[in-house]
Amino acid sequence: MTEATEATSAAGQHVLALDRKHVFHSWSAQAHIKPLPIAGGSGRHFWDYDGNRYLDFSSQFINLNIGHAHPKVVAAIQAQAARLPMIAPNFANDQRSEAARLISELAPEGMDKVFFTNGGADANEHGVRMARLVTGRPKVLSAYRSYHGATATTMQLTGDPRRWATDTGTAGVAHFFPPYLYRSPFDSEDEKQECERALRHVDQVIRLEGPATIAAILVEAIIGTGGILVPPPGYLAGLRELCDQYGIMMITDEVMTGFGRTGKWFAVDNWQVTPDLLTFAKGVNSGYVPLGGVLIGPRVAAFFDDRVYPGGLTYSGHPLACAAAVATLTAMREEQMVNNAAELGREVLGPGLRALAERHPSVGEVRGLGVFWAVELVRSRDTREMLVPYAAGPEESQPVQEVITACKERGLWPFANYNRIHMVPPCNTTADEAREALQILDEALKAADHYTV
Ligand code: PLP
Repeated sequence: MTEATEATSAAGQHVLALDRKHVFHSWSAQAHIKPLPIAGGSGRHFWDYDGNRYLDFSSQFINLNIGHAHPKVVAAIQAQAARLPMIAPNFANDQRSEAARLISELAPEGMDKVFFTNGGADANEHGVRMARLVTGRPKVLSAYRSYHGATATTMQLTGDPRRWATDTGTAGVAHFFPPYLYRSPFDSEDEKQECERALRHVDQVIRLEGPATIAAILVEAIIGTGGILVPPPGYLAGLRELCDQYGIMMITDEVMTGFGRTGKWFAVDNWQVTPDLLTFAKGVNSGYVPLGGVLIGPRVAAFFDDRVYPGGLTYSGHPLACAAAVATLTAMREEQMVNNAAELGREVLGPGLRALAERHPSVGEVRGLGVFWAVELVRSRDTREMLVPYAAGPEESQPVQEVITACKERGLWPFANYNRIHMVPPCNTTADEAREALQILDEALKAADHYTV
């Protein structure tokens, strides 16, 4: 980080002025935002032009699994840019081949082919398209509270309020309730009950929608933005059984959970479940260059051996993005980052957050694993009333905003969604950095405690 001066501050102001004049931002009313100009980043930190440095416990959009500006990945991108920055997807390319080999090697047994996309939404688009083509069925089931992307089909598949504004109410999608013991839609009292009831509910939805009309069940292996809803043991295996029973394809969306986030290479590895298709993006190369993809199991792979797959992208398997993936996955292996994520969750973040929950009346529940944790804030532990309501707009979000502001003032940048703070740092975060973040959150949560009754 370079020293902040009047000149760097002025440069930051210039960046902001141009941004506000010309950049159209995602998910925002354009006149109501003031994005913080960022000057640089390294490891688990990034900083602005005024000398403020932040410990990144958001991993940006929960994609930066190896932290900022990892030197090995930066060097790989630079080398590839000098050698062959672009080659069309109809050629074979060394970086693309190696990235696909590495990803297949890490994937559940038998998932040996990769279709590369530009990000997560188009990975889901293509996963769904493959399932529809293979089964000859039109419909897809997905869970409420899930997020699958912002393209036309993936918006319909999304089960959270981001869908509402562009919901056409068609597109062959039906939603079901995911397990969520803390706010059980099935009035369950323990995980076993929640698992059984949630599976019985999906079975009913399948029967009522008509099994012969359903191509796929698409689920986030762990619902991420919607609350880090870790499914009870047996749930994903139960979905797998339902899919097999009715000839439905199982697609797991591992865009957020893949590549170390949960302390395993893929979240399904926590329960030894193998889907038919697995979609990924974000962590595959830490987001240094846009990349996503679909990991394809044997049934779908065999179907397209002799049939044309009617889909493609100019940038499918872009060499810069694939070089970044090869370097990222290699660095993650060499530096034991997935083990580090698991250990950090088990030894520091889990116990540390549970200790905060005991001290702060505003904390209703903490849950997670690896470097993937949610702190759910409530007005009352007895009623579990959310500190900020579901689908809240900016005015109603004040109590959580106060916690976030208190974190940022102390140099911590967490992720927030409605009444939750998500602590989702890079996989190579150190124990000391995690302890520092916990200490800051401890202070910041006092702002939420004021609202408890
Ligand atoms: N699926 C999940 C689970 C996600 O979290 C996201 C993005 O946050 C997406 C899909 C969409 O990915 P992208 O924004 O790269 O299109």
